[in-house]
Amino acid sequence: MGELIDTAMQGCLTKMAITPGSGDTPAQYTLRAGEARLDLNARLGQPLALHYTGAIACTHCGRATRKSFAQGYCYPCFKKLAQCDTCIVKPETCHFDAGTCREPEWAERHCFQPHVVYLANSSGLKVGITRATQMPTRWLDQGAIQALPIMEVDTRQQSGFVEMLFKEQVADRTNWRAMLKGEVEPLDLIAERDRLMASLDSGLAGLRERFGTDSLRPLDATPLHFDYPVLEHPRKIVSHNFDKQPEVAGTLLGLKGQYLLLDTGVINLRKFTGYEVSVA
Ligand SMILES: [Zn+2]
Repeated sequence: MGELIDTAMQGCLTKMAITPGSGDTPAQYTLRAGEARLDLNARLGQPLALHYTGAIACTHCGRATRKSFAQGYCYPCFKKLAQCDTCIVKPETCHFDAGTCREPEWAERHCFQPHVVYLANSSGLKVGITRATQMPTRWLDQGAIQALPIMEVDTRQQSGFVEMLFKEQVADRTNWRAMLKGEVEPLDLIAERDRLMASLDSGLAGLRERFGTDSLRPLDATPLHFDYPVLEHPRKIVSHNFDKQPEVAGTLLGLKGQYLLLDTGVINLRKFTGYEVSVA
């Protein structure tokens, strides 16, 4: 038997893998850098250092790129891929029917699939949409402490129209500073849902007229609750940024959303997808 050698892990970052906990166990976080994996829950309370080597590889094609676009793409992919088009962020602007979709086959697999409209509590009440297959990952990535699927629709565009309607009364963004500080009060999501559905009734009826009676299907789901491995929430938020300072090190105090909480500051690892780092 050889000696166990503690080799530093190195590779390009992809977003952390997060699985929900159960009972008293919080969510489980795995750092992913290239092929390397690190159980971050096991590192809580211990030093953690990430060093950005200066290289960035496109998360789609693997090409080297000097700058990252849309959180991990090279410029050609950013301009070419349907997943980087503005209609992904604003699904109500889907232009598939106009014949101008960048990748119709990709859209068939991703946009013309059941989508779920949900309420979540990440820094207060918010509305959001996701493909049914992305639950509960979506909520964990946002650092939500609660989530409730409220409606299922057939396409991404339809979910965009429902979200637009809800945005008249509810935020669709997370205040990430409040989320990281842990200053979030639990909400009664069932009561919020019933209140919103009642007050948006005529708008929803209008969408059903447009897309079909069965197009917007209310869901009777149970609210979900998420716990995060956090020893200590930061009182003041200081952000690390690999573009300004390649060395990010400190004691790991917690994990929430796609953020590492270090005693020296926080870092949103998703923002640095494709950045090559060594981890020690
Ligand atoms: Zn690329």
